[in-house]
Amino acid sequence: MEKNHTRFNHRRPQKSLRPQPQVEVSLGDRFPLTIRKLGIEGQGIGYFKHKVCFVPGALPDEVVVAEVTAIHPRYLEAKIHKLRKPSRFRVEPRDSYADQAGGFEFECLAYPEQLKFKRQVVLDSLAKFKPRGWQNYDVRPTIAAPEQYGYRNKAQFQIREQDGHLIAGLYRANSHDVVDMPTCAVQMPGTMKAMRAIVKMLDELKIPAYDETSNSGIIKTIAIRESLATSELQVTLITNTAKLIHKGPLLAMIAEQLPEVKSVEQNVNPGDTPLVWGDQTIHLAGQEYITESLMGLDFHLSARSFLQLNPAQTETLYEQAAKAMELGPDDVLVDAYAGIGTIGLSLASRVKSVRGMEVIPEAVADANSNAKLNGIQNASYEVGTAEEVMPRWQAEGFRFNALVVDPPRTGLDEALIEQILKAKPAKFAYVSCNMSTMAKNLARLSSVYRVDWIQPVDMMPQTPRCEAVVKLSRR
Ligand code: SAH
Repeated sequence: MEKNHTRFNHRRPQKSLRPQPQVEVSLGDRFPLTIRKLGIEGQGIGYFKHKVCFVPGALPDEVVVAEVTAIHPRYLEAKIHKLRKPSRFRVEPRDSYADQAGGFEFECLAYPEQLKFKRQVVLDSLAKFKPRGWQNYDVRPTIAAPEQYGYRNKAQFQIREQDGHLIAGLYRANSHDVVDMPTCAVQMPGTMKAMRAIVKMLDELKIPAYDETSNSGIIKTIAIRESLATSELQVTLITNTAKLIHKGPLLAMIAEQLPEVKSVEQNVNPGDTPLVWGDQTIHLAGQEYITESLMGLDFHLSARSFLQLNPAQTETLYEQAAKAMELGPDDVLVDAYAGIGTIGLSLASRVKSVRGMEVIPEAVADANSNAKLNGIQNASYEVGTAEEVMPRWQAEGFRFNALVVDPPRTGLDEALIEQILKAKPAKFAYVSCNMSTMAKNLARLSSVYRVDWIQPVDMMPQTPRCEAVVKLSRR
């Protein structure tokens, strides 16, 4: 999921739709609708009098009675009032609220169809941005995840007060209502157990949730991360104020009831802001990190550092990136958008040296200490944006011949693309979590690079989200 810390779960249909015909329709209107396809965000798409209508939870070839929930100049939004003809690929969702919030909206769709959808998103994105030679790209079948449920190592739930009690869950689509989620089948069970236990503790101690409307209260969000290798948990309370009442009793309860929690942090993010995480992190108890293992190495992970959300599938993603670069002992590798250095460090033994950059200082500190932790001496990481650091390295005379980029959903910055087109590294892997920005970036990169293959890798079963690795080589 989110490669940055912004909220992702307000699903908005694509904006680039052609002008639509005027249609007389009111909120609450119901009409039969045949679903033609899935949109890029996984919603069913049908046409009501030629106007596009998005229906979350509806699947291709289904006939539903749609009920209009929002009217926009270019499209309608609707919910399923009645399912008249279900798809043969429809399955029973494990979570009853799967259609209400982002994060597991494909629980109703058979897994092989999810994999086909993800490959199709790559094809559709290429067709939209048309990078050079796109019709002939080798877009491979999506690699399935080893586990379709219970894979997600991080739960980041909003906390609210409802009827005198705290609830924890995700935002309802297109709203700021929180759906209480006692279960969430995609989550690693340890994350959910700790989430429910901590919410209960907050309730008992009467530590108030943040209230958006009055801008008062304390707890906004709880983020819980679990290591697959060590089962250690890290809990971060994201708060409106630095002051956290009943801190002592809360930490004592966590220590007693949840011994698997090895790190407790507080992140302060004051006021009503669209960002989930703030800049100040206060260490509350235990270590400042938990330890995860990937590709035979150990990684310390602090609260604000990014880590891939599906640890069991991460090595497959990284092996595809390695395969795309065909590295050798003379190669100088740049690991751009490095996080805690997981890609570069795991490839360091195959190359002469690794340099990386990453914008979150805590992640860079983790990356450098992770190099030490694993006895790696030929890798170093710097704080900064890829688009600022790369030109500086170039100006300083640094030369490299291999590059892996793993940008957030926004894709590569234009300044970085220009730098890449100048430096022209011979070995180049693009790891993407957003097929649309990837295709857009390929349209620029394909003036110098050929796209040898694109390998979709499913990191997020039960969601429409796709990851892919692109192998690029110089024309
Ligand atoms: N390669 C890592 C992290 C990928 S996620 C892994 O596999 O775990 C993308 C990372 O890019 C995040 O850690 C984010 O903090 C960082 N980032 C976002 N914008 C950036 C930019 N402009 N320059 C460098 N890093 C950036």
